[in-house]
Amino acid sequence: MESSRYRSRQQAYRFVVLFAGFLLYASLTRPVALRPIAMGSLGRRSFLGFCLASARALKLTAQSPQSGTALLKQFQFESKLWPNLHHFLYILGRARNGTFDSGRVAVKQAPLDTAGFDALSESQRKAWEHDVGIYQVHASPLDIGYGSLVDVNYAMADLPTSGRIEDTQQISVELRAALTEAGPVYRGLWWPRHDSANRDWISQLTPQVERYGPRIKERLAAAFRTSWPTLPLRVEAVAYADPRGAYTTADPPLIAMSTLNPQHQGIDGLEQLFHECSHLMMDTVDATLARSKAVGKDLSREVSHTILFYTVADTMRSLIPDHVPYPDHYGVWNRGWTRYHELLGLYWQPYLDGKSTMEDAIDRLVRNF
Ligand SMILES: [Zn+2]
Repeated sequence: MESSRYRSRQQAYRFVVLFAGFLLYASLTRPVALRPIAMGSLGRRSFLGFCLASARALKLTAQSPQSGTALLKQFQFESKLWPNLHHFLYILGRARNGTFDSGRVAVKQAPLDTAGFDALSESQRKAWEHDVGIYQVHASPLDIGYGSLVDVNYAMADLPTSGRIEDTQQISVELRAALTEAGPVYRGLWWPRHDSANRDWISQLTPQVERYGPRIKERLAAAFRTSWPTLPLRVEAVAYADPRGAYTTADPPLIAMSTLNPQHQGIDGLEQLFHECSHLMMDTVDATLARSKAVGKDLSREVSHTILFYTVADTMRSLIPDHVPYPDHYGVWNRGWTRYHELLGLYWQPYLDGKSTMEDAIDRLVRNF
């Protein structure tokens, strides 16, 4: 899935917003955030859906994997102040709003992340509280991975170190004012420890990407019957990303991942990184689902995400035998997806094992959902 498929970011973030560690609300509560690829785009690649080669065959015929070093170069891990501040304020505003997902493991510590706050000057404390209040009204009610906040995220990601937040026209006047005022406070109090956590997280993750990444990548590309993204894969390491822990937008690829999320540590973090990358690789699956007359549009989104979770988990299990895959470890299947999990085992697993075609597997899946 390449950015050239999208005429604009607006198109891209209508489909991409997909996330780790969070399921039920993604599929049921806020389905609007998970829009599928526009049908017009699907047509350009739908020929892939008719290939009858099995996943196993594709695995066996996969060319020699890219080296870990080359893959690592494609990933661009970044620990930058402005994206960290933006996401932090968003999460704090959401907590103040009592948003239903504020207790999720990826974000529940954010309001308690106050060490040193009382030692700030009164004017700094007031400024900070005021800026959280601005986010509370102007950003936190929105989905951070969808719509106008995606533009804000890209503006943050693209801002040079020497750039001035005041000059970023893609950010609304209100949010720009809040960021401008909160910047020095954040830089002095939170940034050293958030940056340190980000850098630790990156340094423990990168050897795993180098070691396992090429084989994970090959298997996922074979299983999803698509190619690995060719564009740079920017990963914003942020203390808090969003309640789901991570999200991805596609134009160009930009992954935001929480580094303080306890479910993003070690191999779990590796799995979730490739989960996020997989959101850029679902064209063929989604096109095959879209052709199925047995599945409605809303269900198609949900089925696609269950397939993604299952496939990444199966890949990780097969390559790292001691690893308990993320959805099994953290009860993802028990949050309303028990039936899906059973059906994926019955019908998708044989496809992954090379015993059926993707078309047959999806046909059987959707007939039984
Ligand atoms: Zn996801």
